[in-house]
Amino acid sequence: MTVLVIGSIALDTLETPFGRAEELLGGAGSYFSLAASVLTNVQMVGVIGADLPEEHLETLRSRGIDLGGVQRVPNGKTFRWAGRYEYDMNVAQTIDTQLNVFGDFRPNLPENYRDTEYVYLANITPRLQLEVIEQVRKPKFVGLDSMNFWIGNPETKRDLTQVIKRVNAVFMNDAEIRQYTGKYNLFEAARDVLSLGPQVVLMKKGEHGAVAVSREGIFVAAAYPLETVKDPTGAGDSFAGGLMGHLAQTGDTSWAGLKRAMIFGSVIASFAVETFGTDGLLRMTPEAIAARYETLRQCTMFESLSQPTEART
Ligand code: AMP
Repeated sequence: MTVLVIGSIALDTLETPFGRAEELLGGAGSYFSLAASVLTNVQMVGVIGADLPEEHLETLRSRGIDLGGVQRVPNGKTFRWAGRYEYDMNVAQTIDTQLNVFGDFRPNLPENYRDTEYVYLANITPRLQLEVIEQVRKPKFVGLDSMNFWIGNPETKRDLTQVIKRVNAVFMNDAEIRQYTGKYNLFEAARDVLSLGPQVVLMKKGEHGAVAVSREGIFVAAAYPLETVKDPTGAGDSFAGGLMGHLAQTGDTSWAGLKRAMIFGSVIASFAVETFGTDGLLRMTPEAIAARYETLRQCTMFESLSQPTEART
């Protein structure tokens, strides 16, 4: 099956305690697509300027990603983001955001995108996310991400609430959901978001993994235990790409399917953060994903107290 994504396609300038890099291929849409493309077909919607190097488009195409929904504005400048991480790499500090060509982008989905069932509204202006969802005829499962940049502005926050009401899954990190709901307790905050309509809230907690809250229960997915983390940029988008990619691959959006998909999300995000930019995602293979999936399973499995003692020893 196929997953459609709208989100930023960016030139990122990044600084972490382990180094600095300028004008790398980035953006929520790019990380998501590279992550999901190892599991399923991806259709991308977005906009780029004249200055996005052709090699970045080649990188995306080399993973089979369909760029039919990506418009190039001949005289425009590509979206740019500059961010920094201190020693606590769970928190990104935005140094600069330049919307550039995203400022007056009007998405117009190619006809063959409009019947796609799995849709991901990656981080971008909530108004654009709404415009995309309105063009998809019969979505089966829609995921949504956002960030403080949009939650902090009353106008874009109002639009974001309209988007939340139309999706199945909301992905937010702990700080974002606290900011959006004004609630400190994450479970209370998740209930507030669920009351707007989605079936599941997926709270990302950086190196501590992710927690899903739905009407069916709570599930905690650990992060993959990595010894090398160089650049957390795109971790959230890669988590979402792994998760949505698995849902689209299996067609199973049940609670059990979602829990398994979260483990794919954790595993795929681990490849993204090991190196700068998108390199880790480009090096990842299905075999390496399967091996990490099994390691994570072994690391987080424990027995029920109701099992007889002999069976436990
Ligand atoms: P993540 O680390 O998963 O939250 O995503 C990081 C990516 O989000 C970077 O590659 C940025 O280019 C992109 N990004 C940062 N700020 C914004 C924004 N306001 N809107 C859309 N994308 C953004």
